[in-house]
Formats: sequence, structure tokens, C-alpha cells
Amino acid sequence: MKKTTVALITIAKITLTSVVMAKEATIGIAIHGGAGTISKQSISDSQEKAYRLALKNAIDAGNDILKNGGSSLDAITAAIVMLEDNPLFNAGAGAVYTYDKEHELDASIMNGADLSAGAVAGVSDIKNPIVLAREVMQNSQHVMLSGSGASEFAKRQGLATVPPSYFATPKRLQDWQKANRWRKKPSAKAYTGILTADANNTDYKFGTVGAVALDRHGNLAAGTSTGGMTNKRFGRIGDSPVIGAGTYANNESCAVSATGHGEYFIRYTVAHDICARKQYLGMTLDQAADEVINKLLVAAGGGGGVIAIDAAGNISLQFNTKGMYRAYSKNGAEPVVLIYEQ
Ligand code: ASP
Repeated sequence: MKKTTVALITIAKITLTSVVMAKEATIGIAIHGGAGTISKQSISDSQEKAYRLALKNAIDAGNDILKNGGSSLDAITAAIVMLEDNPLFNAGAGAVYTYDKEHELDASIMNGADLSAGAVAGVSDIKNPIVLAREVMQNSQHVMLSGSGASEFAKRQGLATVPPSYFATPKRLQDWQKANRWRKKPSAKAYTGILTADANNTDYKFGTVGAVALDRHGNLAAGTSTGGMTNKRFGRIGDSPVIGAGTYANNESCAVSATGHGEYFIRYTVAHDICARKQYLGMTLDQAADEVINKLLVAAGGGGGVIAIDAAGNISLQFNTKGMYRAYSKNGAEPVVLIYEQ
């Protein structure tokens, strides 16, 4: 046989093997729509149905991309955009009100393949902050842009902008009014500008959205998007746009997206800590997430949860609150959608 024919046959074999391998490789995706005091008694049947449908549609959008061999970055972006566009969640269209009755949105995204990351904080006119975070990651030299600068960059990148009225929803206005009443109570003496998730406030729901995924090429990605916390003031920025706190992804360890009382998640660098425990201490993903969410954060008084996935496709969904809107799917299977404690 001629040398060139042998070479061609070898190339064809290698290609076929990698196609077969890629087809068989594990894929997985998990999403969340916030944690908090979410119990069967706190939401109506029709609300529950609406949340379940929204979670299912979002995870399906991401899963379709993974099943077709698409990237984990594309899958999480598609899922998060759907959640941002749904006013049920505290991100994009359903963002909460600040103290000044405005909206300031935060988001971040991270690529586990090369540790590239992008984030935006305090943006008020961008329809899909997760898309802007991705633009920052892929088309700027920076990791985090904020406020008017982020907005200017979005316009230059040709992203959709919206007027403030786009984020106005009656439900969030009600939450804001309630927060104002709560703030005036004597028990809220230590009020410092944001409504904390403490025991005085038994119906706090976080509502941030996020997604993590593993694609056929073994790449992990994570993203998170939020309106922050009701009544936040002074340009407060939470954990969601902070790489290592609300979002982290590294092919060597795991991908994590968090939701909860941001100040705690920042101080405990929650997302990175989970990945570090897995990578350096050899913990399983579940052990690492459980340790941080149910031990460290509980001891500190920080409410919330995470979704996480590792390179083997293990998925962990941990929260220390009553419930967390969440869904997951492995290897393209029909997604499991969950809301309450199990
Ligand atoms: N973590 C978000 C923040 O502190 C809130 C949330 O998860 O809903 O801004």
C-alpha cells in the first residue's frame, strides 16, 4: 500500500474513533432559579406549575445544545437567557428593586477550559446581563465592567438595551414595599442598606438564576445572573458577578453557580472553595458542596445554595434554605425539576 493511502486510512480511523468517543462522552447540565423560604405552603399550585415549566424550558434549551455536541458555554448562556427573560426570576426582566426603586443587575460567566471569565455589575439598561458578561469575557481585555462603562461597552458590542420600565414588575414592587415596612420595625435597628436574609424575615426568597454544564469535549462552564437583593443601596454588589464567590469553573475541578446572601458568599469565596476542596483535598463534589453550604455557611449564618458539576458529570445541588428552584439532566435524559427540600 502506498504511504499516502496508509496515512489517509489512519487519519480516517482516528477521526472515527474521536467521533464515537465524543458521542459517548458524558454530558450534564444543572440550573437554579434561586433559594430561600420556598415551601409547598408558600406558593400556589399555579405558581408551582409556572416555575416548573420555566425551569424545564430553560434546561431543555441548554440540553439541546449539549446533545448536539455544542459547548457548555453556549448551553449555560441559552438556559440563563431564558430565565432572565422570565419575570418569575430575580434576573433580567424580573429583577428586584433597589432602595432607590431602581434596578441594578449583576452577572458573570466562566469557561473551565482556560479560566477565562467575564462579569458585569450594577447595569441598569441591558436586557440580558449574562450575554454582556460573555462579551466581556470574549471581546474585552478585562474580567469585570460596572455601571455606565459596562453599558457603553454593551452598546459598542451591539447588545439589546431596554428602558427602566422593562424591569418593572408588580410582584417585585410589592416585595420592595414589604421590605420598606420591615425596615421600619424596631428589630431592624442594625439596618445597613440591604434586606438581610435573617430569621426576622421569614419569607425571603433569593431568586437569582444560574447554570453549570459539562459538554462532550470535557469542558465545564458556569454562569450566574441576578437583580441582587431587594432594597440594596449605595451601589451594593453581591457575589453573583464575583468570580470565585458566585461563579467558578475549572476543568480540573468543577463548575459552580451560587444563590444566596451575597455578603457571605463573597467572604467565604463559596464557588472557588468548593472546587478547591475537590481538587486539593480529594473530596467528592457532594462532600465539598455539603461542607461549604451546610457546615461553613450555616455556622456563619449565610443562607443559600449552589449547583455544581464536575468533569466526570457528577452533579451536586446543595442548599441550606427551605427550598431552591433547580433542575438537572445527565446524558441528555429527561430533566429532573425540583423545588422543595427532599
Ligand atoms: N446572591 C445574590 C446577591 O447577593 C442574591 C441571590 O442569590 O438572589 O446579590
